[in-house]
Amino acid sequence: MKEMEEKILSEGQVLPGEILKVGSFLNQNIDTAFLGRMAGEIARLFEGVPVTKILTIEASGISIAVAAGMAMGVPVLFAKKHRTSNVDGSVYATTVHSFTHNEDYRVVVSRDYLDPSDHVLLVDDFLANGKALRGLMDLCAQAGATVEGVAVAIEKCFTGAGDQLRAEGVRIESLAMIESMSDDAIVFRV
Ligand code: 5GP
Repeated sequence: MKEMEEKILSEGQVLPGEILKVGSFLNQNIDTAFLGRMAGEIARLFEGVPVTKILTIEASGISIAVAAGMAMGVPVLFAKKHRTSNVDGSVYATTVHSFTHNEDYRVVVSRDYLDPSDHVLLVDDFLANGKALRGLMDLCAQAGATVEGVAVAIEKCFTGAGDQLRAEGVRIESLAMIESMSDDAIVFRV
């Protein structure tokens, strides 16, 4: 998506640790008109795919997931990072390693909201090492739900994680694909 690349070039900041800061339009201060166009693009890319539900992970995936859900006319479920008790076995749970905080955390979804009839589109803001997406895929597998594909706003291709998932047969659509980034240059995959 050309506009996403332009936004990254004009507003993105490369921070130490290969973190791209996009708080001005995606992660904190949300450009809603642009968000709508991102959602339209995701809906266009997955047109004809029998998606019944979008699944994301709190917190930064929620805005783009909700926008995509509205564009596609499907509900949006988000995995919670909170320490929800599972003594009654009411949740599916998995462990995810956080890229930005460099620690493991537990994510859960209620069994009430994901089941074998679901055809799921996974949505997130970033794909870096793929840990968040693999955690969401694990939750879907536990529920017996089918993963139809993945849509992310920004893929950091240089980690290799997105291409690894593609090699495993997962359909991934990224609105911007960053091949390399440094203080003075961000290069997109062509
Ligand atoms: P992964 O699990 O693929 O390693 O990382 C994806 C998650 O880490 C995303 O949900 C996102 O919140 C966060 N993340 C990874 N890289 C970046 C980055 O460069 N910038 C920001 N803002 N978040 C990132």
